[in-house]
Amino acid sequence: MEAELAEKVALVTGAGSPTGIGFATAKILGREGAAVALCSTTERIHERAAELHSAGTRAAGFVADLTDRGQVREMVDAVIEAFGRIDVLVNNAGMVHVGMDGQPGGPFLELSDAAWDLDLRLNLDTAYAVTRAAVPGMVHRGWGRVVMVSSVTGSIATDLGSAGYAAAKAGMDGLMRTVALEVGHAGVTVNSVAPGWIATGSQLPEEAAAGVHTPIGRSGTPDEVAEVIAFLASERASYVTGTLIVVDGGNTIQETKGT
Ligand code: NAD
Repeated sequence: MEAELAEKVALVTGAGSPTGIGFATAKILGREGAAVALCSTTERIHERAAELHSAGTRAAGFVADLTDRGQVREMVDAVIEAFGRIDVLVNNAGMVHVGMDGQPGGPFLELSDAAWDLDLRLNLDTAYAVTRAAVPGMVHRGWGRVVMVSSVTGSIATDLGSAGYAAAKAGMDGLMRTVALEVGHAGVTVNSVAPGWIATGSQLPEEAAAGVHTPIGRSGTPDEVAEVIAFLASERASYVTGTLIVVDGGNTIQETKGT
């Protein structure tokens, strides 16, 4: 049987960490036959690309700070030069990055304008800029998939100190729905995946403890999020657009938690 993404080119942003959702997604898209371009803010992205390459996936790493519109344009041009086009875009970059200038988040009554701006830049502007650069080619070719990695935070629920992050993630979903509406006629689908508590390498002890109180009784794995992203990126999801799939072990549907 032919791999479901054979001949397709995927761009996954924010795939620098070996234990993050981005790299898990890149590996699964590669398993499904896609050539994979990976992007992150540091040179470690080349290590991830080399790992994919040794697993038999055509892959290359690109370094860019996606809060900088010029770097986004250069990165997308470089991906198209290397691979010919972008068929699948996974907007996974966000939250924080190595060597970041400033600290996002904080209680609303103490929130600085700079912290608010940083959250919107990291989580919403990055997704806007890459989507704006990559989608016209998909529309032109009549096939494309965009998957936003938003969050239950902002889209479904929220947490203390998360005003900027929650607003940005809900904003990603608003962007997702509008673009879905405008490009559906051209065979391009646009959807979001909203993870809950996920056991990445950077998960904090209190987040791991919160994961235990989900109906499934544990945090999710990056692969469990990546499999849903890969489904939305596939031909099997051809009639799914403008929607949000929650991957949170049922956490947001329970009224009583932790008892
Ligand atoms: P992660 O830190 O491994 O992934 C974030 C990646 O984004 C990193 O590679 C980082 O370098 C990159 N990035 C950040 N800012 C960037 C920028 N300006 N330019 C380029 N790259 C940038 O963490 P993760 O937990 O795997 O998170 C992946 C995505 O999933 C994030 O968007 C996050 O908000 C979302 N998410 C994670 C969880 C969770 O529990 N881990 C839950 C909900 C949503």
